[in-house]
Amino acid sequence: MTQTNRQAYQHAEAFRMMTYECQTCGKRLLVWNSRDGVTPFSMTCRLCGKGSMIHINWSNDPLMPRYIPQVGDWIWVDMPAKKCKKLGVPVGSPRLIQVDERYLRKTGKA
Ligand SMILES: [Zn+2]
Repeated sequence: MTQTNRQAYQHAEAFRMMTYECQTCGKRLLVWNSRDGVTPFSMTCRLCGKGSMIHINWSNDPLMPRYIPQVGDWIWVDMPAKKCKKLGVPVGSPRLIQVDERYLRKTGKA
């Protein structure tokens, strides 16, 4: 059996499968945090494009450090350092992406 150690990571949301729920259309989106980094509590709904999605049930997010993303999955990655500087946000800020073949090739997971 694998024992999870919360102290192993700097951020509570590291490598967790997070559930976001839209306050307008009510749909849910699973987003995996691919790194030991912060994630936003809310974001624009990727499904209806209008509402605000909120991270729900955050205390029950499964810890999945070995999860292998599939095409179509939504995941948090580090925003490129150049873009962080341009936007004036801290290096390591989160960026939401939808996994495609190109991403899998780049990360060697294809
Ligand atoms: Zn929505």
